[in-house]
Amino acid sequence: MENQIPMAMATATEIERGTKTQEDQWRVESQVFQIYNLFRGIPPNSQFAILELQRDKHIEYLTKGFKQLGRSFTVLDANRPWLCYWMLHSIALLRDCVDDKLENDCIDFLNRCQDPKGGYGGGPGQMPHLATTYAAVNSLITLGGHRSLSSINRRTFYDFLLRMKDRSGGFRMHDGGEVDVRACYTAISAASVLNILDDELTQNVGDYIVSCQTYEGGIAGEPGSEAHGGYTFCGLAAMILINEVHRLDLPALINWVAFRQGIECGFQGRTNKLVDGCYSFWQGGVAALIQRLQLIVNDQMGLSNILECECSTDSDYDSINSDISADEQSLEGTSSHVNEMFQIREEGKKLKRTQTVC
Ligand SMILES: [Zn+2]
Repeated sequence: MENQIPMAMATATEIERGTKTQEDQWRVESQVFQIYNLFRGIPPNSQFAILELQRDKHIEYLTKGFKQLGRSFTVLDANRPWLCYWMLHSIALLRDCVDDKLENDCIDFLNRCQDPKGGYGGGPGQMPHLATTYAAVNSLITLGGHRSLSSINRRTFYDFLLRMKDRSGGFRMHDGGEVDVRACYTAISAASVLNILDDELTQNVGDYIVSCQTYEGGIAGEPGSEAHGGYTFCGLAAMILINEVHRLDLPALINWVAFRQGIECGFQGRTNKLVDGCYSFWQGGVAALIQRLQLIVNDQMGLSNILECECSTDSDYDSINSDISADEQSLEGTSSHVNEMFQIREEGKKLKRTQTVC
């Protein structure tokens, strides 16, 4: 008898029941709101202490990772340049650096991952793969310095990229591997940062990426697939690097990314999926890139004429572009990456200034 649910209650329970995804989503919302409420209830001083980034502890944790990682990391054996990149990049973001010995060990290790025919594998002796190549190159650039940068064989690297180039215009991840937007971004980005990007590498990449933008507005991994946060970042960033970003439907892309943020404030990777911390990076990265494209977005939305007043937005845009190309022309080799990073920030500021004047 006690197992029987009264009729009225059973109906209410049934109404509450949603799909598996909906129920997972409700659970996440309730957990997040509990944390928000807890946070709101404590005094401002304690709030500050909770939010404080424990920089020293993070640096200690990251540096320790170079010497010994936990057992669970064995699954990442084919991703070892990524481990280097995540740790080095995080240390750099925390405005610290590794000591000379660790730096040299890292360079030597990545060099052992470099394939004689170009590109980097997931570990010494593994076949070269575009994702680990991207991670290795960015690790070496983060380390900087002659020994690190000169360890990259740019000639064989270029041959590797050309070998990964597919007839569709896109790139494949490795010999016999899949062609997708991630491969396009890692190839274009690595070539750009090493200053070896040319017409042969960029040929039809734009066509391939445009063909991956879906009816939702985001970008899919390959033509016909579903729009996805990681691929949207890769596609958008690659289109910026090859100067063809105007070919994407940017208002549709903004619409898509804006609605990937849920009421709990996190980002989901695809429509009707749970929010996930990693998408704060991918979708957040899309938002950051979009900020530098405001004039192109205005143009696509037919707002350029409306916003145009005493100052000409077009001429400002031209001057921004000419600033970039002048800078890029004066940059040799790998140092362009770091400068380009600052250039993006600077450009963001310039655009803001333009808008304030208007
Ligand atoms: Zn994730």
